[in-house]
Amino acid sequence: MDQPSWDDSGGSPPPKSAFLRHLLGPVLGVGLVAGLLLAVWLYARQVAQQVYCYPNLGAIGLATRMYCADHNGRFPLARNWCDAVEPEYVKNLDCFRCPALPHAPSGYAYNAGLEGLDEGRVGARPNLVMACDGLGGWNASGGPELFDPRHRWRMGLVVYVDGRRESRRRDDPAQMTWKP
Ligand SMILES: [Zn+2]
Repeated sequence: MDQPSWDDSGGSPPPKSAFLRHLLGPVLGVGLVAGLLLAVWLYARQVAQQVYCYPNLGAIGLATRMYCADHNGRFPLARNWCDAVEPEYVKNLDCFRCPALPHAPSGYAYNAGLEGLDEGRVGARPNLVMACDGLGGWNASGGPELFDPRHRWRMGLVVYVDGRRESRRRDDPAQMTWKP
């Protein structure tokens, strides 16, 4: 008895390459869509992190100015600046958490050069950094070495002593003044 043919019409089986093409088409299509969705999701997440970081630095900048107002116009000491403004001037500890570094007690660093300075003398200095996206955790303070541009397009957020906030890259040192 003859072996059954590929189909009833007696035609020959489709070539292997055509079969692979039919299989690979949908697989590649699904992979492409999944890749695009992942890219969109990552982008949206980065944008959201940056959006939520801005008000945090705004709250820290405002709290520091309030501290100055209650302490003869002097900026907090560098070694305990977080303790100086929390809980009296920052009511919510989440203000210290950068969304891109959610597990650190504080994702921000304070410009140690401001320690004890008279706010009235430096408060209007353009681009003088007060605090920024930084490394080191709670009470972290120092200079440009602590600046951590961890957000979208390798940018980090900065709040200046005049209250302005903006995104900066690491290679923007001329735009960020650390020495009062
Ligand atoms: Zn941040």
